Amino acid sequence: MTHSLLILPGDGIGPEVMAEVRRVIDWFGAQGLSFEVSEDLVGGAAYDAHGKPLSDATMEKAQAVDAVLLGAVGGPQYDDLDFSVKPERGLLRLRKEMDLFANLRPAVCFDALAADSSLKHDVIAGLDIMIVRELTSGVYFGEPRGITEMNDGSRVGVNTQRYTTDEIRRVARSAFELAKKRGNKVCSMEKANVMESGILWREEVQWVHDNEYPEVELSHMYADAGAMQLVRWPKQFDVIVTDNLFGDLLSDVAAMLTGSLGMLPSASLGAPMANGKPKAMYEPVHGSAPDIAGQGLANPLACILSFAMALRYSFNEGAAADQLEAAIQRVLAAGIRTKDIAQGGAFVSTSEMGDAILAELGKGA
Ligand code: NAD
Repeated sequence: MTHSLLILPGDGIGPEVMAEVRRVIDWFGAQGLSFEVSEDLVGGAAYDAHGKPLSDATMEKAQAVDAVLLGAVGGPQYDDLDFSVKPERGLLRLRKEMDLFANLRPAVCFDALAADSSLKHDVIAGLDIMIVRELTSGVYFGEPRGITEMNDGSRVGVNTQRYTTDEIRRVARSAFELAKKRGNKVCSMEKANVMESGILWREEVQWVHDNEYPEVELSHMYADAGAMQLVRWPKQFDVIVTDNLFGDLLSDVAAMLTGSLGMLPSASLGAPMANGKPKAMYEPVHGSAPDIAGQGLANPLACILSFAMALRYSFNEGAAADQLEAAIQRVLAAGIRTKDIAQGGAFVSTSEMGDAILAELGKGA
């Protein structure tokens, strides 16, 4: 089976880290996996070429492939552009038109980096959890919203937390599906003690469990208690599913348990396409890092780990994903570091990190 992939390197360090991903893709290609890779522009690079941060033709391509892999967008040279053509609008258009409602942020602790965590070694070592955040609804989108001036001259700011049955059920299904490929446990987080939308969230997640995924273990937790548990004993969790607002906070907390921005991948998934695979975009959590762009200092691992997620969740190549993640573990265990994770010690360049990963993959092949 051929896996189709659209690569959008973007701006700043995006093209630098993506170059290393391409080498990894070529390596797996040489081992017999079949990829149909196309590449296009997004963000500032697309604005420079077409006057907008994502062309209609690129959008069409994104809709047609099994997965999109994006580097990063943005940079100071685009700061003064009109809001409608800012680089980030390209990213938002992809998320919106592909209707990517489930944002997946893994928090995985690589053994070799456990000492860099702010948590104690035994709390963090071996951590492997996945936060599924609802991405297209909730308080960031609900109406009414706005700032209104009152008769007495004071002002009121309003945002509305709003969720429908369908919005909750579809993201719950994404979480249960993921749990089946992992530790078979889902913990749903909301504030059902003080919010009606939280009561609905809890009831609907329970409904999806009881009717469609009774074999997966489900628990519920208030989001504030969940935040405490995440830093107290994160290994109790496998998959956490939560709404847009709580997910924004909880995924950042979970991510930082494990270290640097340069190590954090993500995926955003939508509804299944005709071929049964979900619409999907994979991207590192970091931005375009203009402060280090062009210097060979970028850590390519977040982007390479995003490709590993594509292997697992879009291409059903779980064994290849395991192989790639294991190679990264071994490279880190050997003390090979880019500057961001070197703790002031010796470090390698972006492409040398790519060399090291390829060399390790070669040993395991
Ligand atoms: P950033 O993530 O680009 O950088 C934050 C810090 O982390 C910087 O010091 C940077 O050097 C470092 N860093 C980030 N990724 C790294 C990597 N792979 N290896 C080593 N160090 C790394 O965030 P920022 O500085 O706030 O934003 C810079 C630009 O990126 C802005 O234009 C912003 O809008 C954009 N941005 C884009 C995305 C995206 O494309 N998804 C996300 C966040 C920010």
